[in-house]
Amino acid sequence: MTMLDSQLMLDSQPFVPEDRNNATVVSSAPFSQSTFPQTPSAPPAESSPAEFLHPTSVTVPSDSFPSDELFPPEQFKSQEEPSADAAQTELFETNPPPWELAVEDDVLLASIVFSKSPHGPYDYRIPDSLREDLKPGMRVGVPLGHRKKSTLGWCVAVKEGSAAHRKLRDVAELLDDTPLCDAALVRLVMWMGHYYQVPAGQVFDTLIPSSVRAGAGTRQTTYFTPAKDLTDEQISKLPAKQQAVVRLLISSGKPTTAAELAVAVGCTEDPIRRLRKKEILIPEVRREMHSNIRILAQHNDGERKQKLELTEQQQAALERINTAVDSGRGRTLLLHGVTGSGKTEVYIKAIEHVVSQAGSAIVMVPEISLTPQTRGRFESRFDSVAVLHSQMSPSERHYHWQRIRRGEVQVVIGPRSAVFAPLPNLGLIVLDEEHDTSFKQDSQPRYHARKVAHARAMALGIPLLLGSATPSLEAWHASQCGHAELISMPNRVANRPMPDVQLVDLRIRDERGGSGAISRPLHAAVLETIRDKGQAILLLNRRGFATTIQCPSCGHVVACPDCDMPLTHHRDGGKAMCHYCDYTIGTPPWCPACRFDGIRYGGLGTQKLEMEAKAKFPNARIARMDSDTMKRPGSHQRVLSEFRNGDIDMLLGTQMIAKGLDFPNVLLVGVINADSALHFPDFRAAERTFQLVTQVAGRTGRGDRGGRVIVQTFTPEHPAIQAASRHDYHKFVEEEMVNRRKFNYPPLGSVARIIIRGPLEDKTEAVADGILARLESARDLLGSEVRILGPAPPPIGRLRGKYRFHLLLQATEAAVVGETIRRALADFKTDPKDEIEFLVDIDPVNLL
Ligand code: ADP
Ligand code: ZN
Repeated sequence: MTMLDSQLMLDSQPFVPEDRNNATVVSSAPFSQSTFPQTPSAPPAESSPAEFLHPTSVTVPSDSFPSDELFPPEQFKSQEEPSADAAQTELFETNPPPWELAVEDDVLLASIVFSKSPHGPYDYRIPDSLREDLKPGMRVGVPLGHRKKSTLGWCVAVKEGSAAHRKLRDVAELLDDTPLCDAALVRLVMWMGHYYQVPAGQVFDTLIPSSVRAGAGTRQTTYFTPAKDLTDEQISKLPAKQQAVVRLLISSGKPTTAAELAVAVGCTEDPIRRLRKKEILIPEVRREMHSNIRILAQHNDGERKQKLELTEQQQAALERINTAVDSGRGRTLLLHGVTGSGKTEVYIKAIEHVVSQAGSAIVMVPEISLTPQTRGRFESRFDSVAVLHSQMSPSERHYHWQRIRRGEVQVVIGPRSAVFAPLPNLGLIVLDEEHDTSFKQDSQPRYHARKVAHARAMALGIPLLLGSATPSLEAWHASQCGHAELISMPNRVANRPMPDVQLVDLRIRDERGGSGAISRPLHAAVLETIRDKGQAILLLNRRGFATTIQCPSCGHVVACPDCDMPLTHHRDGGKAMCHYCDYTIGTPPWCPACRFDGIRYGGLGTQKLEMEAKAKFPNARIARMDSDTMKRPGSHQRVLSEFRNGDIDMLLGTQMIAKGLDFPNVLLVGVINADSALHFPDFRAAERTFQLVTQVAGRTGRGDRGGRVIVQTFTPEHPAIQAASRHDYHKFVEEEMVNRRKFNYPPLGSVARIIIRGPLEDKTEAVADGILARLESARDLLGSEVRILGPAPPPIGRLRGKYRFHLLLQATEAAVVGETIRRALADFKTDPKDEIEFLVDIDPVNLL
């Protein structure tokens, strides 16, 4: 494809290059699978043996098999080469006679993993002084290699073991008083590490927020208690002030700070210092939360609270969810409810049921739909809700985390990372808008919240509730094979009809109208809406002003020097920006190649649409919502509440406006270009298009005045657009499954992707070829049926100055794909001086 083609496709997607948040970019010796041998058990599967997203039948070590044991201790390596040990085990079989056990199992060992290479796990001896206190889920300091300082690691298991035949080093110190995650979460970490092929230490770093690890918002406070065995005689010999301090402490019986003591006694802190020196007062240092952490005011956006009587279909859905909650079994429920069917109310009622039994719940929503409205709906119904979002300060995040862990929170609401919230009595996990791509993390570990939530729910024996008007094909397929229970809500509340959808064929000049992006029918509909004092939403999934800057004389396209992608012209400030790496220059007034004066801006972005809309509808109050205008904290909230109050007539923007909003006065939704995501080189392109159009269409017709939708498209006959225009999810799925079946794409098969990148094209390609050869021989060795595609340059062939190649693996079962990669990359190393990195993406949702 040409550069321009790919640009057209790319810009319409929310896209974060995998390198974007690369705090943990894989180095040239990345996963060290060789030192990462655990065969962790997945959390127990559902009643049906296969796991829903990736049914497995065991041909190779399964990626998801039920087992009570976390991972057999012998899976862990000792610090030394394991060969001697391994041989020993074999020699003695698995059942040594009891007297040998007694002699050999004489030490307590800790398995420790590290987030930086080498990743472990390694065994350490636990010295007697730490025996009582060291628990899995704690951080420890241990000696590693020749390093002088001790290295931070995570304890993943404590076990009896043998110190015979190997030299073991001691755990040096404990860094936590209590584990940062309980046993179930440690298991989840190990499973994630295995499934996503990421060192467990790095999974811990994701699971436990950095603010928690750093103790953000805490301070150390010293408390004093009187020494034991103090006699009255001793005390009475002390100077008066010191006496008063000691007597006060003894009578109060509780540890007290120096400042408090000084105030109570009416002295300076000097007598206390002296007592401390004489060891009459014993200090104890505690780490505590600041009492004055600023918690951002949480408020509703003004939606009126109302007691709702559930509709019949809501009631039926609720009963099935409650039954699942009461069953005490892990199971997946798919709530397929059309837009406006009242899914949120069902979640709330189900959680009320959980809370009434002293349980708690997690609700995950795409961050962008974590609006004040969503928040308000939950906060008005529960005593204690923790809302997690990306704009929280570290101390605020830490504060909530501690509350959650202490069991003080009933409901946690947040984006994908909320799946790790350490609620002690978790009774239900809800994944709202489960089809949303933001649930997949685009940096290491590349986990999907749905998959992780499933693992966590099944291990705890609690239900996972997936909700969507446009379920992902994965979830849908699971419901069709009995791995998930389908609950349908086909109607909107209050008998409201689904909105009428009108397709505008942009190929027809008469329809298209003049030169702008707003077609004649859409123009007329907007005028009508404004006349009727209604509100309108216009969707255009590309930000910026113009998406290409091209010279009409020589054809030169102004592109990013590091990414080979065209720059987007932003009108504010006259900038030309790369949307992939943020490279920015002033927009050149003439062609940088041939100096032709009259460079042209092509392609349409939201800024340009805004200009057109303002010119065409001068009386309308218009607001633009995209990641450029929503940069400042609170701006999202502000615009939405202005919209709710009727201070804005028209909201236009990227997919930000397509999700979750529930405003009764929206009478019109316009989709400027429904095809923008359709021609992606991605097997999910049609699915994304269907979802986007259906979701944005669902923003209208939510009040008593009805609503209509106008979808502009160059391919009105496309099945995804046809199905979306008829609100016909089933028809879409039926047709799309035919395509998936043809190539065994998900949900039928499983896919993984390996990306290789480096500064030199030929060397990078050579490494990719080397990986291909290893994959092929691993496949042959395993006798597995894995299709391997590539290596080939992905649509973004160069990013941030690095050339990229990728390989796609496909098989019927996830476990087979996973094991093939694990085998192939074990021990694989590249020459550090070539600076070539590779990374593995299991179940990728982004193929760019
Ligand atoms: P969905 O998430 O399914 O698109 P929402 O949960 O946003 O739908 O609900 C749509 C609207 O219907 C909301 O304004 C909500 O308050 C309202 N609603 C939900 N349940 C009921 C009910 N039983 N009776 C009346 N209104 C309801
Ligand atoms: Zn760039």
